[in-house]
Amino acid sequence: MKQNYSRILLKLSGEQLAGKYDSGIDPNLIDWLAQEVKKVVDEGIQVIIMVGGGNFVRGAQIAGHGIQRVTGDHMGMLATMINALALTDIFEANEIQTRCLSNIYAEQVAEPFVFRLANKHLQKNRVVVTAGGIGRPYLTTDTAAVSLALELDCNVVLKATKVDGVYDKDPVKHKDAVRINNLNFQMAVENPKITVMDKAALGLAMEHEMPVVIFDAMKEDNLLKVVRNEKIGTIIS
Ligand code: UDP
Repeated sequence: MKQNYSRILLKLSGEQLAGKYDSGIDPNLIDWLAQEVKKVVDEGIQVIIMVGGGNFVRGAQIAGHGIQRVTGDHMGMLATMINALALTDIFEANEIQTRCLSNIYAEQVAEPFVFRLANKHLQKNRVVVTAGGIGRPYLTTDTAAVSLALELDCNVVLKATKVDGVYDKDPVKHKDAVRINNLNFQMAVENPKITVMDKAALGLAMEHEMPVVIFDAMKEDNLLKVVRNEKIGTIIS
């Protein structure tokens, strides 16, 4: 893995944006998160954010009882749009230049995701928040995150989770669970107990050697520490 990151992709799940609530968004928490992202932007690091939508809808969960899977996934993608808009506004309120780029047609709401446009914003040190995942059904924003990180030549995918990395067993249930600092892709993909990221996403990252860091972004300075390559979370490479 490269020692100094110049361009990172941060994956935030919907659940994280809900904060203390069961669903929806917690604007105060996003406000706090904006300050964390600002620290990284101020270091000259280019930041792309992929947001999930699980705080509103997940396609696989809502499908059935008359809702087709594809429609469910469309609903999920729209959920990511809600989150992306909230992030964009709150980031701008924190004086971070931010642009929301959508992978689903939503021109009244966001700029379309165009590779060259995304690159241009990033080169100007604007944070790019992506809405709509990758724009196709049967995918999650984890896979979309890895795909986008490859497309935009990021150094790493930073996946923010509730726990501070990958453990040998569930740390919530087992007090003696041990955090694994370095994990290889093969193990991450093959071990059914490792569910911190979609297997499809991990497989794509493995194929193209895109390192993934699993870490707790809700702890002060953790994001900054990760981009400074301090030993935070679990590195899958
Ligand atoms: N989704 C999709 N294509 C994509 C990204 C997302 O169809 O490229 C849909 C899918 O239904 C997914 C939902 O949007 O469940 C919300 O995303 P995700 O479950 O990844 O959100 P998270 O769990 O990270 O909050």
